[in-house]
Amino acid sequence: MRVFLNPGHASNGIPDCGCVNPESGVRECDIVLKIANRVKKYLEDVGYEVKMVQSDSLREICNESNDWGADLFVSIHCNASAARKARGTESWYWYGSNAGRILATCVNSEILSCVSGLWNRGVKDGGYYVLRNTDAPAVLVETAFLDNNEDEYLLVTCEDGFARGIARGITDYFGIR
Ligand SMILES: [Zn+2]
Repeated sequence: MRVFLNPGHASNGIPDCGCVNPESGVRECDIVLKIANRVKKYLEDVGYEVKMVQSDSLREICNESNDWGADLFVSIHCNASAARKARGTESWYWYGSNAGRILATCVNSEILSCVSGLWNRGVKDGGYYVLRNTDAPAVLVETAFLDNNEDEYLLVTCEDGFARGIARGITDYFGIR
């Protein structure tokens, strides 16, 4: 199995670090890279092939995944909201994609069982560029709200829980497909 992992935004935050917690300064690009590195290790431990690309160019990401012949595409992000009050995890799939919906459902439920105290915002369909332009079934995971201090605490202290949840969701998906 070939799994393409895309930690969101640009490596080292240049030119785009994604969202930031305004009090701690913790950046999305750094958190999601740490989580993705752990997901990579979990998947390689069970014999999957993993390719990971973090880039500001969404076109490059999609091309790399498609050219490689990925069986699954997984983009990992943190969320933010205007009032910094929103909390919880959500997983997105391309409009009407049955495989995407199943993948997003697997990942969402495993994250919730691996990170206690995390709120559930559910599985949603939408039109994100990386969901539209990848050939493989795809999920975009909004792990939690980095700009909310309670959620940030979960992201910082349960980095491994998020990673285990994402990896288990992926293996669950292959188990039922
Ligand atoms: Zn993001």
